Amino acid sequence: AIELHSLTKRFGELTAVDDLSLEVKEGELLCLLGPSGCGKSTTMRMIGGLERPTEGKVSINGEEVTRTPAYERDSSIVFQNWALFPHKTVLENVEFGLKMDGVSDAERTERAREMLEMVQLSDYEDSSPNELSGGQQQRVALARSLIVEPHVLMLDEPLSNLDKRLKEEMQLELKEIHDDLDQTMVYVTHDQNEAFTLADRIGVMNDGQIVQVGEPPEVYNNPKTQFVEEFLGDTN
Ligand code: ATP
Ligand code: MG
Repeated sequence: AIELHSLTKRFGELTAVDDLSLEVKEGELLCLLGPSGCGKSTTMRMIGGLERPTEGKVSINGEEVTRTPAYERDSSIVFQNWALFPHKTVLENVEFGLKMDGVSDAERTERAREMLEMVQLSDYEDSSPNELSGGQQQRVALARSLIVEPHVLMLDEPLSNLDKRLKEEMQLELKEIHDDLDQTMVYVTHDQNEAFTLADRIGVMNDGQIVQVGEPPEVYNNPKTQFVEEFLGDTN
């Protein structure tokens, strides 16, 4: 389980995350849903141990994240800006995560090819990331994180650059992987349809706080605040 205890992150005068507490249960897929600037990515980076909380703490299975060395964390994060290694090929980018794990060359390549097939990029294994479109790069980043089968997976708008059809196909793949591996996932999106499709529970964020958390129908049918009601009503 992932536990956020009174997490606060300030950047100077600005409070990006404001006394946020939340538990993501073992094997659960929790979507953080909220408007641009509400603190989703900052929260994710703190869960991933990439940003230190100003106050409060994050623990994963009882271990405080900032006290766990990076190589011991059984977690993986797909960033919103999906930074790929520019001088490696697509295949090498995807294989990379397995290098640390001491998997043999042949097996690494085989598994990377399987992942590329899953994200529908088999034809691009020798391409360089900068020859790819935004949506293609995004899928390489997704494949690179999924290949290590981490126990905890954090995805920050991993499908935001894809068209509707591809987005729906990738959502299905992700759901399948999540079910198969029993992964604990935190999935950031500002797309409420996506949240309702994927989530076991949704945490609606506004101004650095979680304003409501619950199963999709519960949130949809009983919005707790006017903000939630309006946010959900917006583009349905
Ligand atoms: P989006 O949906 O646009 O990605 P978000 O919910 O992920 O938005 P964050 O990136 O977490 O939002 O940003 C929350 C707030 O913190 C914003 O007001 C942002 O400008 C601010 N912020 C984020 N990172 C920094 C930083 N490194 N320095 C200063 N301010 C920051
Ligand atoms: Mg963000």
